Amino acid sequence: MTDIRTRRVPEKGVFVLSLDCEGLWGMADSQATMTDGVINDRTLEQAYDFLDRTLDRCGVRATAAFVSAFAAGRDVIGECLPEIRELAAMLPGWFSSLLPRLERGDAASLDGLEGRCHWQRLASAGHEIGWHGSTHIPLHDATPAVAVDIELALAHRLCSEIGGPGRSVIWPRNLVGHRPRVRAAGFTDFRAGPLPGRARRVASLLREFHILDRGSGDRPRCCEGWRVAPAGFFLNWPMGVRRVVPIQATVRRWKSMLRDAARTGGYVHMWFHPHNFITAPAMAEAFSAIVEEVASLVRSGDLLSLSMVDANALSWEAGQNVLHR
Ligand SMILES: [Zn+2]
Repeated sequence: MTDIRTRRVPEKGVFVLSLDCEGLWGMADSQATMTDGVINDRTLEQAYDFLDRTLDRCGVRATAAFVSAFAAGRDVIGECLPEIRELAAMLPGWFSSLLPRLERGDAASLDGLEGRCHWQRLASAGHEIGWHGSTHIPLHDATPAVAVDIELALAHRLCSEIGGPGRSVIWPRNLVGHRPRVRAAGFTDFRAGPLPGRARRVASLLREFHILDRGSGDRPRCCEGWRVAPAGFFLNWPMGVRRVVPIQATVRRWKSMLRDAARTGGYVHMWFHPHNFITAPAMAEAFSAIVEEVASLVRSGDLLSLSMVDANALSWEAGQNVLHR
């Protein structure tokens, strides 16, 4: 920890909400999703409008990690096409649907791929802006270093007109890799990825029914020059097999975790994609109820709603909450 100024804060629980903001960029490898038209400018507008209004009504702060190309305007994407073509040559599977649309560059081709208005709205509302890759290619160690270097250069170019990509990273597909490279580019904080494997996914699904859940007990930590937020919990997306989880079970489980954090000075981290509201509207009902519980615990003085970076800067060492600035 290199911070110099510190200030003690009351020992309260902490709630963190991190959002993977990507539009169709996050699903470029799914031919069906790229062509079925479900995720488009209009439905994205509805999802981000609901998100922003709910957070504003409840006074809850989020970390919105944007795919840089989603946050950038159409003109800027056009200027960066040579670099994107280089990436496409290395990772053709990711760009086979995407690149022809970017090359055409008209409104119909970019439907679902332009999110600058959502970036502006969340940034001006005071939410932390983070980075979710420049084009959402996986940045794990199997990706060539030269591709990661292009992504890092693109992050600053694509975001040059909107104040930069931020300092925190949510790794595309939660695949953490090339950490020294990404750290050297100026990023300081990231959200850990969940453990891989089918057994973990099955356990995660079963846990959705645990309505007296008390959370993971994990807290932010420092590692190799990074400040690392715990992987957190995905807000259930009631689609596919996850449709079996009743909304009320989701709400009761989150309320249990939040109240336990408020009582014990613990840490709770929620994450999801705003576009999940489009394909599973019932998720909005759960989200509203949970965020209202956060607001209630904040009002009673038992919980802090912090950005991921601010929560990572909070140390619980020696039982003291110290906010490092
Ligand atoms: Zn993503």
